Amino acid sequence: MSVRVVARIRPLLKHELDKDTIVTAESTSDDSTKGTPTIVRIPNPKTDSESFSFQFSSVYEQEATQQELFDAEISPTVKHLFNGFDLSIFAHGCTGTGKTHTMRGGKTLADRGVIPRLLSAIYRRCKKVEKDSVGATKVEVTLEYFEIYCDRVYDLFEPPEKRTQSGLPIRDSAKGKTVVVGLTEKPCATLKEFEQLYDQANVNRSTSATKLNAHSSRSHAVLCVKITQTTEDTIRVSRASCIDLAGSEDNRRTDNNKERLVESSAINKSLFVLAQCVDAINKKQARIPYRESKMTRILSLGQNSGLTVMILNLAPTRAYHLDTLASLNFASRTKKIEVAEVENDPIYRAMTKPLAATSSIGGATITRQPLRPL
Ligand code: ADP
Ligand code: MG
Repeated sequence: MSVRVVARIRPLLKHELDKDTIVTAESTSDDSTKGTPTIVRIPNPKTDSESFSFQFSSVYEQEATQQELFDAEISPTVKHLFNGFDLSIFAHGCTGTGKTHTMRGGKTLADRGVIPRLLSAIYRRCKKVEKDSVGATKVEVTLEYFEIYCDRVYDLFEPPEKRTQSGLPIRDSAKGKTVVVGLTEKPCATLKEFEQLYDQANVNRSTSATKLNAHSSRSHAVLCVKITQTTEDTIRVSRASCIDLAGSEDNRRTDNNKERLVESSAINKSLFVLAQCVDAINKKQARIPYRESKMTRILSLGQNSGLTVMILNLAPTRAYHLDTLASLNFASRTKKIEVAEVENDPIYRAMTKPLAATSSIGGATITRQPLRPL
């Protein structure tokens, strides 16, 4: 069981081109051998002379393409999926940072996100498995697609008018698994079929969001791909879950009507439990608190020895400063605070020595040291 937490900094959008980039990627000396940076640096909002740096498994910079991200992070997991392991891929971050772009992506081939690329890789592998076994193994792919809004589950394969306000019930099965009762499971044999189903469901998502007065950024969208490999005497089932999470911004700061507060607390709770699960899995703790939110419970996160990839999406500009810092704090357990050298100030530079002091903010150990020259 393992979790990779990677960060992805999106490029400046058209209307941001005159804005400063305050979130940057940086390589450690170890990284130069691997080629991908692992550090995200951001100024301290309270004082520009300090910056925070956070370490990840990998950091993708503004120029990183959909293909680069997929090839490095997701493609290697497909063989594990066919070996019977589960896979969960999360896009985490504030609204407007590129979660949907990362997961779904744009219309062109180059712009396709993680989900269509994963499905494409799965169907390719299905063909290979069937061919290599000379027809002795049959592989079936089925899909479930739902959203979790205010802890209620809605089927995205159902047209919005068939939805009930209370959503679908969830129950524990005899085998101890959590199931969503009444969720549509669609057999889906080809990539073409997938694209049609997925596009239609995404239309359902946006229209039902308007109907329920919920913006899609306030729900978690979960696509589950179930792969069943059947031979004469074995059945092997594995699942890939791809989750476009609700925006992690603090809604209370801007909008505090009652409905928003209910939404915010549901979002905050589930993202908090998710972070705790990721942490517990990484620390190989026996108890993973997956039952404490509906989302992690439905995913049985950490229960099936599987792989988890969390992609933390970040916007590079100052407009997102506090929310970016909050999501970095959330997603990374390794943080450093560094005192920046003042440029063109030789006296200050000569005086700067590493300070021995360490302290703790938000559970992270903080080492004060001078900023390394970039
Ligand atoms: P979120 O789902 O986190 O709210 P979106 O995926 O909708 O964010 O992204 C916000 C905007 O930024 C969209 O217009 C999207 O096309 C653009 N965007 C995000 N990431 C990238 C990227 N890597 N390259 C180009 N445009 C991007
Ligand atoms: Mg989105």
